[in-house]
Amino acid sequence: MTAHLSPLLKQATPVVVDHALGSWIHGTDGRDYLDFTTGIGVTSTGHCHPDVVAAAQEQCGKIIHAQYTTVMHQPLLELTAKLGEHLPAGIDSVFYANSGSEAVEAAVRLARMATGRPNIVTVQGGFHGRTVAAASLTTAGTRFSAGFSPLMGGVVMTPFPHALRHGWTTDDAVDFALAELDYLMATRVDAREIASFLIEPVLGDGGYMATPPRYLQGLRERADRIGALLVLDEVQAGIGRTGRFWGHQHTDGLVPDVIITAKGIASGFPISAIAAPTELMAKAWPGSQGGTYGGNAVAAAAGVATLGVVERENLVQRAADRGAQLLDGLRRSLADVSEICDIRGTGLMLGVEFGDPTAPAGSAGALEAARLATAVQQACVDEELLTLTCGPTGSVVRLIPALVVTSEEVDAGVERFARAVHRVCD
Ligand code: PMP
Repeated sequence: MTAHLSPLLKQATPVVVDHALGSWIHGTDGRDYLDFTTGIGVTSTGHCHPDVVAAAQEQCGKIIHAQYTTVMHQPLLELTAKLGEHLPAGIDSVFYANSGSEAVEAAVRLARMATGRPNIVTVQGGFHGRTVAAASLTTAGTRFSAGFSPLMGGVVMTPFPHALRHGWTTDDAVDFALAELDYLMATRVDAREIASFLIEPVLGDGGYMATPPRYLQGLRERADRIGALLVLDEVQAGIGRTGRFWGHQHTDGLVPDVIITAKGIASGFPISAIAAPTELMAKAWPGSQGGTYGGNAVAAAAGVATLGVVERENLVQRAADRGAQLLDGLRRSLADVSEICDIRGTGLMLGVEFGDPTAPAGSAGALEAARLATAVQQACVDEELLTLTCGPTGSVVRLIPALVVTSEEVDAGVERFARAVHRVCD
């Protein structure tokens, strides 16, 4: 019997990789693709960074799978120490899992156990993963939860301060969203039963839209007032991606209770983590979380090497600089394209939105926006540039280059992207 890959997989490009290095994926079709997807914001140090490859190879010769609930291993202790150098004051305890979704589950479980409260309040348009709990918290499109019902209970949705979607100023959007949250807490979910607020500093799959700092501060104030936790999902925005080490560092003075991280932490090896103050972690009992593969030794060694590269190669600042260059280049070269309504970016998380953002979901206008975004993403493949779409209605093309992307590669990306846009829109 010949087996095939499941049709459950929906692939954004037909590319089959032969090998990859830095910002480039070399296909078995003989073409060289400039990779502005980085495995959905994972390979921040570029594909196969030599330091990461060497660390993983060396670790494979020592121990591959040490099983952290049985024996501890050196790379995980080192990764924890290194990560600690970047964690906000007071956040000094780290628990590891394998994927972003698993870390989200870990954060939910911690929040519920530590507070003894059931409800997680999260925003409309967020993405937190594919497992049932994570999908229950995800509203970046029904495609992520359809067919999963009944979803996990104890999830309460509140509007995201989405200025563009309403044609408002950011201030008006924040006022609206905070007022709606207060209304929700007066009418739907009692403050005494809220375990945590959960949010991404920059919406990822939900459209590459930065969460306004004043909204994050509003959540912090409310969490403090009612004794709930502020949990930040930094899976996509963390580890330098936004031009700060953590995405929430764009909000002055903000300190979360729990940080969820994954993706960029180990250059593609599957490892994720939640970080919180030790006193908070200690409120959940030892052994309440774990797993066979969590905190894998090779992944942890790759993580140590990755953080070393981030530091030595100054990747946080480079993300800010190259992100500004890419944003500027896209805005300049696409200024005259009427089908584009917004070009935005936080560091190297950039989104180009098509169509009328105020068009109601499901309307002809929204469907046309999604059609344009998908057509441009497909045209990019022909131009040998890999991008992805995102947004609740699929109207955004996102560009997520490696943090090691060069100035020349950014320029090449802008040119290729502009050619793809003109092919579709002219
Ligand atoms: N949270 C965020 C913000 C994400 O972007 C993602 C993945 N796109 C996840 C959670 C889930 O991570 P994973 O796919 O590793 O389970």
